[in-house]
Amino acid sequence: MLHVEKPSELHTKRSLLINSPNSESSATSLVWFRQDLRLSDNPALQAACQQGHIIPVYILDDVHAADWRMGGASRWWLHHSLQTLSDSLNHKLLVLSGDALEILPVLARQLGVAQVVWNRCYEPWRIKRDSQLKTALQDQGITVRSFNASLLWEPWQVLKEDNTPYKVFTPFYRKGCKRAGEPPQPSGKPASMNCRTLPDEEFLGHRLADLQGPDGIAALSLLPSIPWDSTMRETWQPGEDAAQTRLSEFLETGLDDYKEGRNFPARPNVSRLSPYLHFGEISPRQVWHQACASALAQNQDKQLDTFLSELGWREFSYSLLYHNPDLPEQPIQQKFANFPWQQDKEALRAWQRGQTGYPLVDAGMRELWQTGYMHNRVRMVVGSFLVKNLRQHWHHGEAWFWDCLVDADLASNSTSWQWIAGCGADAAPYFRVFNPVTQSEKFDRQAEYIRRFVPELATLPDKYIHAPFAAPANVLQQAGIVLGRDYPEPVVDLKTSREDALAAFKSLSA
Ligand SMILES: Cc1cc2nc3c(=O)[nH]c(=O)nc-3n(C[C@H](O)[C@H](O)[C@H](O)COP(=O)(O)OP(=O)(O)OC[C@H]3O[C@@H](n4cnc5c(N)ncnc54)[C@H](O)[C@@H]3O)c2cc1C
Repeated sequence: MLHVEKPSELHTKRSLLINSPNSESSATSLVWFRQDLRLSDNPALQAACQQGHIIPVYILDDVHAADWRMGGASRWWLHHSLQTLSDSLNHKLLVLSGDALEILPVLARQLGVAQVVWNRCYEPWRIKRDSQLKTALQDQGITVRSFNASLLWEPWQVLKEDNTPYKVFTPFYRKGCKRAGEPPQPSGKPASMNCRTLPDEEFLGHRLADLQGPDGIAALSLLPSIPWDSTMRETWQPGEDAAQTRLSEFLETGLDDYKEGRNFPARPNVSRLSPYLHFGEISPRQVWHQACASALAQNQDKQLDTFLSELGWREFSYSLLYHNPDLPEQPIQQKFANFPWQQDKEALRAWQRGQTGYPLVDAGMRELWQTGYMHNRVRMVVGSFLVKNLRQHWHHGEAWFWDCLVDADLASNSTSWQWIAGCGADAAPYFRVFNPVTQSEKFDRQAEYIRRFVPELATLPDKYIHAPFAAPANVLQQAGIVLGRDYPEPVVDLKTSREDALAAFKSLSA
């Protein structure tokens, strides 16, 4: 991995190189890829290509990300995503690791580029870093331009009439987004792309050529050292082309029953586009406009409306994070700062490992572990179970999801956990406790989802598989299941834990 040297150590190398400008330099732009790992509908790339030569670069900046550095599953995804991006750039992608605030100004000067371009990100740590970076680059006489590539509307564009941010989703989406207008049409890939050949020089102790393409990506060490990723490889194909294929498949076979079918974890009615959207392998503008065109052709207005409103939830999450930078850490409703959470490491571990004794919860947690994804309905069920029945702090759920999800996204994850815990802006009321057994009976009636992820229960009849602890002894015996040996007894009683949670909540409001 590349380590960043102190600016003083860099000074000598830098000044030597600045004195030997490349003839292509004046028209060259450094294109800084971040959460926009695609060529199409990429305004920063498009603008740079129109101006002249480009040098594409990616920097893994764990220094500024600090506590929000990418988790294991996201790093796995990033590795493969960078590989596909690098392939489509003929292995010209320069891949670095370290403090972007130190690296970029030095790189820009060493390569003598005229401008640095990027697409905007909205995580608070990135906003802070990027604004400092912009000043540092401009102080060196380098032009900096940034663009919107990952949201339908900028967070400062969707405001109430009194110019304050929305706190409730429905008016945000139905009034605010509508007022902001139809999202712009996406653009295609740049008509031509001229990557500048890098000089045969060193950068921070490495030959520049060694930092390009597969070697540069491998040096990031993003893949796990113990191979837990085999099911992830079977489940996903990261990259821009795969994202487009996924969208087309969903529009052909999933959208026609999205409104109803999206609630059933075993049905193929959700798009599974979230990791592609998170890493920017597809843009929300592309998803929005292709979905509109497809629904128009197939007369699927109602399905479309629901699907677009889910993209609206993504926008709402970003708006909340932008206007509440401490959203990942602090409850929006301040009274929750004093909530009497319990501390129970064993219960938390049972939840993380999918060993709670509640099959739908366990199926969800195992889906997460095996594939890096969990169906939205099940996310709500496992979330509610953690913060209400087990009364564990929502931070525990947020952190576990952060590490395990391939779509881990600071805005959507924090907003959703606050929603589940009841402490967010537009939160599910605290007394809404999802019952994992009735949810399971309703949304996985034939237990296809449960049988897939909790195979030790597969032989139980549908009637009992949702709550094995309530099955008569002879049914369990016939299925060859001994509770406590083959599958856990419930870690908590649903009724009493629900009552305790409600009492804890009441004590808070009093
Ligand atoms: C506790 C909890 C944690 C979550 N953490 C994340 C996260 O880290 N990253 C993430 O992308 N989503 C998160 N979600 C939201 C949602 O579960 C996922 O976006 C969705 O399941 C992704 O699957 P999909 O692409 O098939 O969704 P689809 O139903 O096909 O929806 C299309 C797109 O809309 C967006 N979307 C859908 N639902 C939501 C939502 N409730 N909030 C925000 N955006 C939404 C996503 O970008 C999604 O890809 C979380 C939800 C819960 C309850």
